[in-house]
Amino acid sequence: MTQLLQEYLPNLESSLTLHWLIAFLALSIRYLLFAGMAYGIFYGWKRRDWLYKKIQQKYPEQKRITYEMRYSFSSLAIFATLAIGIKLATEAGYTQVYKDFGAYGWGYFIFSVVVFIFIHDTYFYWTHRAMHHPKLFRHVHKVHHMSHNPTPWAAFSFHPLEALVEFGIIPIVVFMTPLHPIAIFIFALYMVVLNVLGHLGFEIFPRGFTQHKLLGWHNTSTHHNMHHKHVNCNYSLYFNIWDRLMRTNHAKYHQVFDEVTHRPKPIEKAVDEEQMVDGLLVD
Ligand SMILES: [Zn+2]
Ligand SMILES: [Zn+2]
Repeated sequence: MTQLLQEYLPNLESSLTLHWLIAFLALSIRYLLFAGMAYGIFYGWKRRDWLYKKIQQKYPEQKRITYEMRYSFSSLAIFATLAIGIKLATEAGYTQVYKDFGAYGWGYFIFSVVVFIFIHDTYFYWTHRAMHHPKLFRHVHKVHHMSHNPTPWAAFSFHPLEALVEFGIIPIVVFMTPLHPIAIFIFALYMVVLNVLGHLGFEIFPRGFTQHKLLGWHNTSTHHNMHHKHVNCNYSLYFNIWDRLMRTNHAKYHQVFDEVTHRPKPIEKAVDEEQMVDGLLVD
């Protein structure tokens, strides 16, 4: 890929620029793939069939989607810059990234991914709460909150400064903990998928999920959607730990989730309203 680009872009002498371009392209492809797939399915192909799963029963304007994409690409450019910084620091021996898989084994590999996710969850909750300080909100975090009814394209729709803070978790962790590049890749994949899920606008988890003793600790699409709608609640990212500890869950979180997941499917509705005569199903 590097050789190919060098051939077609003869003026691009700086390998650093080339690496940045590759990182930006890779991040963009991942974003387009996950957000695009979710958008294509929920807002295109199944738009009518799954309308009953739509958390807020309306669709955002096209200009809001364009805005979400514009800011997401700007965030990806910042992520690419930080990724190059990590690469250079790793080559210079400053990070704890290890390439030899046998150095720590499978057990540590799995443990490192899980711990990374939990560290990020805590990091996100507190940086996110800081972003809701009136001054930071007005000048920085407001960009993300322009989407009151977000779509998957809002996954990285951040002010450049917030993008820097959000991605900042990766340099912090790689300087402190031994991590294999594949562990970083799995973590980043989980982050993208969960960011897309949080901004999906549709609830895909089953009835009773939030009240389940174990599953209820994982956040839902409804949870983050309510953050965009009501703003000063539901700050957490992956898990419902910090919102419970700090009592920042929206008081009606379970109620809204139940309302969304108990809506009748279109077929059930059709049966209810059109095909029943005196309590009998009519063919
Ligand atoms: Zn927020
Ligand atoms: Zn959001």
